[in-house]
Amino acid sequence: MGESKYWNPQFEEILGSERMREIQLERLRVQVDRLIEHAPYFGRRLAENGVSSSADISSLQDWPKALPPFTKGDYRALMDDCENDVYRFLDETLPVPLDELACMAATSGTTGDPQPYPLTRYDLDQFWGEYLLRSRWRAGVRPGDRLIHAFALSMFLAGVPPLQCAREDGTMQIPVGAEAGAGRILKTAKFFRGNVLSCTPSLAEHMIERAPEILGAPISSLGISIIMCGGEPGAGLPAVRERIESAYGAKLYDLGAGMGVSCDHPTYQGMHWVADDLCMYELVDPATHEPLALEDGVEGEAVFTTLVGGGLGWTRLTLGDIHQVTVSPCPCGASGLRYRIVGRVDDMLKVKGVIVYPAAIDSVVSSFIPRVTGEFRILLDEPPPRVVPPLKLRIEKGRELDAAGLPALEEEVVKAMKERLKFTPKIVWVEPDSLERSEHKTRFIEIAAK
Ligand SMILES: [Zn+2]
Repeated sequence: MGESKYWNPQFEEILGSERMREIQLERLRVQVDRLIEHAPYFGRRLAENGVSSSADISSLQDWPKALPPFTKGDYRALMDDCENDVYRFLDETLPVPLDELACMAATSGTTGDPQPYPLTRYDLDQFWGEYLLRSRWRAGVRPGDRLIHAFALSMFLAGVPPLQCAREDGTMQIPVGAEAGAGRILKTAKFFRGNVLSCTPSLAEHMIERAPEILGAPISSLGISIIMCGGEPGAGLPAVRERIESAYGAKLYDLGAGMGVSCDHPTYQGMHWVADDLCMYELVDPATHEPLALEDGVEGEAVFTTLVGGGLGWTRLTLGDIHQVTVSPCPCGASGLRYRIVGRVDDMLKVKGVIVYPAAIDSVVSSFIPRVTGEFRILLDEPPPRVVPPLKLRIEKGRELDAAGLPALEEEVVKAMKERLKFTPKIVWVEPDSLERSEHKTRFIEIAAK
């Protein structure tokens, strides 16, 4: 008998099916009753929309009508009402009693206050843990593999929780943590002969640059064959993928912004949503919050509702990511609708009415490597989204680029931006390695000090 394609064939084989929608409705109704019992905030909001028990939810279409999306603004307002007492906040919003919480993580807080991600034992094993195991299996991680865990360990949802979640999949976990720095991660990977690496894409890229100095050999000498990246959008960008995969000699998988993982199709197909039975996926219009039908090419703000456990408190929660979905079967043959991160609601820029996301600019800039290093900043005179044209970009010249080549390069970059993103930038060139590198997340936007 061949090896199963999925970690959990029972559910993963029926993702997106009619049977799955029945399972979702059943679980959603249980969750609604648990929210009404344990989460007064959602109980009140449900009541405002005429829902006083699961009996009022008779189809999945009733759900968006029962509850508006829970946004970052709602989070701040409720935290204020709770006088910044995080446990009062959690008591208002979680479908479980607080004494069931076994672990606390948080968002990294790079785009504002960190938001709590509480986990019960059930969540660690059966919810977040189950998602991670499904993703790892799809990425080809198998018993006996040695996984170098180089996400930041401190608080981050991709930090300690994956180590606690891992159960029975037979991998050896080697927690180093991004905090250790590229040098120590590289040395650890070499010493313990790790063959799987998980970290942010910017750290994976940074380690390519550091390897010759630290290891005395290129990064490919480590023998890492699988890289699982997340925490930021880079792993979905063709140029970044190509650079990481060829430098390491490894296959790169993109994880996150929900419960998804990319597949091994040679061309990036977005991330497959692998957990319909654990968490319901929706898209809404970022301006009106009206639900959008999931059809090929539709873009919207992603909204998540966990269907089991305490589930991180995701109850029609928006993480501020703009996704584009594809529901047609993936050429790779694996199940699950696919989503790509197009941008962040917070980072959205409007240049004369044209919507531009920094991630899209990153993709264009990266396509000019090695004539540029790939590092750049967007210089704004005032906070986004409105940009008075021209949009200014500070871009690092490539290390090998000679001065004579610069005007032609500038012309090509401007043309590419105009063709692909519909705006004409003003470029300020800077020397290679002059922009600050981050081992965690890269922030593209710089707002001029007044
Ligand atoms: Zn696929």
